[in-house]
Amino acid sequence: MNREDQLLQNYKKVKEALSTACQHAGRSPEEVTLLAVTKYAKDSDVLFLLRQGLIKHVGESRVQQALLRWQSPDFVPFATVKHLIGHLQHNKAAKAAQFFDFIDSLDDFSTAQALDRHVPQGKVLRGLVQIKLTNRDSQSGLPLERARELVRQLRTLPHVKVCGYMAIAPQGGAENELKRLFAEVKKAFDVDFPAGTERYLSLGMSEDFTIAVEAGSTLPRIGSKLFADNLQEVV
Ligand SMILES: *Cc1c(COP(=O)(O)O)cnc(C)c1O
Repeated sequence: MNREDQLLQNYKKVKEALSTACQHAGRSPEEVTLLAVTKYAKDSDVLFLLRQGLIKHVGESRVQQALLRWQSPDFVPFATVKHLIGHLQHNKAAKAAQFFDFIDSLDDFSTAQALDRHVPQGKVLRGLVQIKLTNRDSQSGLPLERARELVRQLRTLPHVKVCGYMAIAPQGGAENELKRLFAEVKKAFDVDFPAGTERYLSLGMSEDFTIAVEAGSTLPRIGSKLFADNLQEVV
């Protein structure tokens, strides 16, 4: 199979799995937006999916790498919604505020204040607060109650619009454990971001997105399942 057929097949499988998960949960597939995580993908693969019109929301984990790619002439013509999904260092806040549409990994008020100061005139920078679901020190994000507190603080900022939560599940977690964690986040999400407002719940990656969508995720972040060389190896 050539590379383009492989990418189309990957995409189709991801979309089918998303739609099956929606069916199981009695949700409409329109409620769910695929966030294509392009951080490990080759430029040529990303460009192919862009030209096919298949991806709109894209996620990068590093500010510098995102600027290099998405400000290059090949990429500029595509109207994408750009998300920063990796940890944001304070000293990159100015660049991030100018470049990204969404910062999905907010976990610190002073960095958010720095973002707020640098949002260009007339732009609204959307932000999700990252909830930490593991006890691993290496993982960013805040424990649930502190994340909720940060949401309240962020609502005082004029140029950053906080509109949801993002979380990364523990790797290799058992299905019932993931379900329990996702349900906890979903419960807080529904209280803090009521239905009918603009809101995003970003749960799920390649390995757990069907569970996440069944649990209410509206913005699963999918990288390897879209861009893998041989889907058999990652399914
Ligand atoms: C890399 C990354 C993803 C995508 O992971 P895959 O398992 O390749 O789908 C999702 N979310 C975050 C925060 C990431 O850093």
